[in-house]
Amino acid sequence: MEAQPKKPLIVVRNLCRGYRMGTEQVIALRNVNLTIYEGEICCVFGASGSGKSTLLNQLAGMEKPNCGEIIINGVPITKLDENQMAAFRQKNMGFVFQSYNLLPALTAEENVALPLAFSGVARKTRLRAARAVLREVGLGDRTRHYPTQMSGGQQQRTGIARAFVAKPRIVFADEPTGNLDSRTTTEIMEMMVRFLRTYRETMVMVTHNPELAVYADRIITMRDGSIVKDEYTEKGKNIHESI
Ligand code: ADP
Repeated sequence: MEAQPKKPLIVVRNLCRGYRMGTEQVIALRNVNLTIYEGEICCVFGASGSGKSTLLNQLAGMEKPNCGEIIINGVPITKLDENQMAAFRQKNMGFVFQSYNLLPALTAEENVALPLAFSGVARKTRLRAARAVLREVGLGDRTRHYPTQMSGGQQQRTGIARAFVAKPRIVFADEPTGNLDSRTTTEIMEMMVRFLRTYRETMVMVTHNPELAVYADRIITMRDGSIVKDEYTEKGKNIHESI
């Protein structure tokens, strides 16, 4: 396949974030600098409290930094107001959570269709699109099930279908397999990688689980609010030539 130049998708410059706890200041991110290129599957490792979730929240524009900036696809997201950020997020980002975060009152297909509702797709069309993605994750026969009527693995497959239905440029995942057994973890990770590669999407995944490293192109390790290691895996070294 023809070599593709590396295209920076997420640029983080001198990012800091602290939290005031009574009289004390907790520093969650210390001057973080990072460039993530299009198509990379990045795994962010680090002990509890090292700043992984804070970084993910910042990249997704959920919180403002105390200093520094984040530029995604050329847009300085740290300068967007809440409405602009919400629109940017809907257009460009998908999310996979440890606890699935499905709405209990909605069926699988309604949950998966939700991101399309925000972009104004008609109900019938978005339910049809949702069913198509549910078939891709092997849940074609569970489209009318409610979350409580599905296993953990099925709920996470629904979560993946929801994250990918709108073909986002970036998928953020926070401990996506944290509540799953090892066989289901493999299934879920292989499914996500397939989607990411098919649509040349980028993923930033936060996890404690060292076994997920095998799916990553790049491993970023955090300690005390800083990136202390940032390496491409063997697979990742070829990524920009092969995708
Ligand atoms: P990780 O995801 O690696 O476990 P976090 O990003 O959640 O780490 O937390 C980094 C540090 O920031 C921790 O010391 C944590 O206690 C602190 N922290 C995170 N969020 C808040 C908050 N909303 N209020 C106060 N302190 C916080």
